[in-house]
Amino acid sequence: MIRCPRGTRDFLPDEMERRRHYENVLRTVAGTFGFREIATPIFEEASLFVIKSGPNILDEIYAFKDKGDRDLALRPELTAPVVRMFVNGMSNEPRPLKLFYFGQCFRYERPQSGRYREFFQFGAEMIGNANAETDAEAIALAVSMIKALGLRKYKIRIGHIGILRNMLAEANVPQDGMQEILQKLDKKMYDEAGSLLRSAGVCDDSVKRIFETAGTTGGKEVLDKITDDAAAYMKEVMEILEAMNVTDAEIDLGVVRGLDYYTGMVFEAEAPSLGAEKQICGGGSYSLSELFGGEKVFSTGFAIGFDRILLAMEKEGQTFRNKGVDAYVVPVSDDVRLEAVKIASMLRSRGIVTDIDIMRRKMAKAMKHAASAGARYAVIIGKSELEENSVTVRNMETGDQRMIRLDELFGLFL
Ligand code: ATP
Ligand code: MG
Repeated sequence: MIRCPRGTRDFLPDEMERRRHYENVLRTVAGTFGFREIATPIFEEASLFVIKSGPNILDEIYAFKDKGDRDLALRPELTAPVVRMFVNGMSNEPRPLKLFYFGQCFRYERPQSGRYREFFQFGAEMIGNANAETDAEAIALAVSMIKALGLRKYKIRIGHIGILRNMLAEANVPQDGMQEILQKLDKKMYDEAGSLLRSAGVCDDSVKRIFETAGTTGGKEVLDKITDDAAAYMKEVMEILEAMNVTDAEIDLGVVRGLDYYTGMVFEAEAPSLGAEKQICGGGSYSLSELFGGEKVFSTGFAIGFDRILLAMEKEGQTFRNKGVDAYVVPVSDDVRLEAVKIASMLRSRGIVTDIDIMRRKMAKAMKHAASAGARYAVIIGKSELEENSVTVRNMETGDQRMIRLDELFGLFL
């Protein structure tokens, strides 16, 4: 039997309805913040991702040659495609551009709970500004989206990549060694970070101070101890967030998301219920457009791991009720089938979710099917009732059954 490829999933109707519902919750929230949806291709030139993340990215993505010998890749994320789109045709639009997307991404990863080879990201990018308001807007949107979904337990941690970068620069760590150290600090791998720092010639005292800073967490007052413009900037971001009524975000200077294109504020959200794969959102301010052939424009964005956040909601015991069928039409005998079809069409034309027995089942079996389809009402079409312009409706929940005139049938579903 052929199965779907490793790391991919099929979504059955119940699950798909749930996913569509929550996607639309996110779309609505992004809309209320003035963001507009865009879409980009599923595959791009492989070089787009190499330019953004370096050649090693090719080991982690689905890269291939097409029949025209072009080097392409399935997108592993959408920030690079969105910025490419901006450079290609949106660079004259009024700024900031506020864009959001929902779509699948592909990464050649080892599949496990919350980690797939095909997964979905919901993300937002603001292109055109680098200031505290922009950063606060991005964080507030992410928090509002998480809240709107109904996730109860989550943590938002905000950092600033400049603070540790400045400390590393002051300790004379060469530019090309920084990224690896920052990545280790981000992952809280202090042993590895320590040996990298010492082999870069950093003294024990400085290593200690760097670790202390990377371990700084708490409310905005923890920034008071740090004399760096970046700390003052972060304080401003926190104050704006407070004014936006976002009070559950914490400072964590260990969040550095060790990639070169980040320019300042960086943030992450996690859902502790998920265990190892707990990160549900990541983002920050960055500058990429100049790498893709455009002018340099500061941007801020983030991506929510849609699959993980739904998994976290499940772990919290949240259930989703499918809408189900409003009316299930059952013709009692063959000679009323055409009338039954007409009645079903009438209900459908009024927007009532209507299903009809098309398997020519006997009455009892058809009623059983209506129950298993979760129908609210069975609409039973019998010859003698039709002669009085009536049908029988059964409330499938209570079992109550009564005759109703056809011209009143529609009102039942209001
Ligand atoms: P991780 O450290 O968990 O691999 P990441 O840093 O690679 O995450 P990003 O590139 O920032 O993740 O992507 C944003 C979000 O997308 C993550 O926070 C996560 O929720 C989700 N995500 C990333 N990779 C996967 C995957 N393979 N399967 C499902 N969700 C993923
Ligand atoms: Mg990853």
